[in-house]
Amino acid sequence: MSVLSYRYVVVGAGLAGASAVEGIREVDPEGSLLLLGHEKHLPYDRPPLSKKLWFGKMKLEKVYVHPEEWYMEAGVEVLPHVDVAGLDPAAQRLTTAGGRQYTYEKLLLATGATPRPLPLPGGDLEGLYYYRYLDDYLRLREQVTAGARVTVIGGGFIGSEIAAALNMNHAAVTLLYPDPYLVDRVFPDYLGRALEEHCRGKGVRLLQGQQPVALEREGEQYVTVTDTDERIVSDAVVIGIGVTPNLSLAESAGLQVGNGVVVDEYCRTSHPNIHAAGDVALFPYTALGQTRRIEHWDHAINHGRQAGRNLADAGAPYDYMPYFYSDLFEFGYEAVGDVSSRLTTFADWQKENDTGVIYYLQEGRVRGAMMCNVWDQVPAARELIQSGKQMTEAELKGAIS
Ligand code: FAD
Ligand code: NAP
Repeated sequence: MSVLSYRYVVVGAGLAGASAVEGIREVDPEGSLLLLGHEKHLPYDRPPLSKKLWFGKMKLEKVYVHPEEWYMEAGVEVLPHVDVAGLDPAAQRLTTAGGRQYTYEKLLLATGATPRPLPLPGGDLEGLYYYRYLDDYLRLREQVTAGARVTVIGGGFIGSEIAAALNMNHAAVTLLYPDPYLVDRVFPDYLGRALEEHCRGKGVRLLQGQQPVALEREGEQYVTVTDTDERIVSDAVVIGIGVTPNLSLAESAGLQVGNGVVVDEYCRTSHPNIHAAGDVALFPYTALGQTRRIEHWDHAINHGRQAGRNLADAGAPYDYMPYFYSDLFEFGYEAVGDVSSRLTTFADWQKENDTGVIYYLQEGRVRGAMMCNVWDQVPAARELIQSGKQMTEAELKGAIS
C-alpha cells in the first residue's frame, strides 16, 4: 500500500479536531491537510445530544460543525470511520487499523475521551447507552417513545441533562446516583438539592445515594439491581459516569502523559512536531495557575483552534478562560473559571434559587462564577476573576446581574 504524505494531520474529528483545521487554515491556507476520525460522521456538536435535539429546538442537520462543502472548499481531506492504531513519531507516520499509512510534518492529537464503563456484572450488556455519540442519540431517539421506561445512571452532567430531556419527551425516568446530590462536583449543595426538588416535581424518580450493583437482561428489558436490592425494570439504560482521555496513541509513541497528554501553553506535547488539544490534553490553565484537563465545549473549540494555529506556526499561547453551560428544564446556566464545589460559595440570588450568580471564592477572591438564568455575563465574570481582588459579600452583591 502506498504511503500518503501531508503537511498537517489531525487525529480525532470531534470539536477540537474540527476547530483545529479552522485554525490551521486561518494561518496556512495552502498546506495539505488530513482530518481522520473514528466516527462515521463529519464533526458535530455534542451539547445538543442531551439538550436542544430533545427540546425540538434544533434540526438534526444543524448539529454538524460544517457542511461537507466547507471542508472541500477549505482544502481539508476528511476521512471518517478510520481508526488510527499506530503512531511512530521518529518516522512521523501514522498507521490505521486497516493498515493504511500516512506521514505528516505536523500532527495534532484531538482524540478526546471515552465513557467510563460501569465496573459491575452486566456493565457490558449489549444495547446499554454509554451516552456520548451522535449514534447514541439517534438510537435512543428511536427507542424512546412516550411512556418508555428509562433508567439513567450517574448524577453528573450527562445523567442530569438526559434525565431532564427524556422526561420532557414523556419518558418515565428513574435517575440513580451515589453522590450526595445532583452534579455535586460543581453545584453547591443548596443548588443541587433545589434542582433535585425541581426534577422530582417534574416526575423524575430520583434514587439519590444509591449504587447500581448489577445489570441484567430480561427478554427485551433491562434490570438495574441497586445496592438496596431494588430491581428497576426499564426499556433502556443510559449511563454517564464520567470519561477517560484517549491516551493510547500518545502512550505508544512515548509522549509525556499524566491524566491527559501533557502540553505546554502553545499546545505542544513533549515531541516537537506533535500538538494535542481538547478533552485529551493536560494543559497549563494560566489564568487560574493550574494544570488540568477540561472536558467542555468552549475549551475544545478554542484550544483546538489555537493548537491548529500553532501547528501552522502562529506561535501564540493559549491563555483563554473557557466557559461552559447546561440546561435542566427551565434552569440554565453559564459558568466560568474554577467552579469546584469544594470552594466556598456565595450566592447572590435575584429570585429564590432560580435567577442569580454563584461566586466560587478562595481567600475572598473570585475564582469562578456560575450565572444561573443570567445571560451574557461571562466577560464580566472573567474580569472579576482576573482582577484577583479580594471582595466582601456586600461588594459581590449585584457585581454581576
Ligand atoms: P471528543 O468529542 O471526544 O472527540 C474526539 C474524537 O476523536 C471522537 O470522535 C473519537 O471517536 C475520535 N478518536 C479518538 N481516538 C481516535 C483514533 N485513534 N483514531 C481516529 N479517531 C479517534 N460541554 C459543554 O461545555 N456544554 C455542554 O452543554 C456539553 N454537553 C455535552 C453533551 C454530551 C452528550 C456530551 C457527550 C458532551 C457534552 N459536553 C458539553 C462536552 C463537550 O462536548 C466535550 O468536551 C467536547 O466535545 C470534547 O471535544 P474533543 O474534540 O476534545 O473530544
Ligand atoms: P461527569 O459529569 O464527570 O459525572 C459522572 C458522575 O458519575 C459523577 O457524579 C461521578 O461521581 C459518578 N460516578 C462515577 N462512578 C460511578 C459509578 N460506578 N456508579 C454511579 N455513578 C458513578 O461525567 P458525565 O456526566 O458522564 O459526562 C461525560 C462527559 O461529558 C464529561 O466530560 C462532561 O464534562 C461532559 N458533559 C458536559 C456537559 C456540560 O458541560 N453541560 C454536558 C454533558 C456532558 P464522582 O464525582 O463521585 O466520581
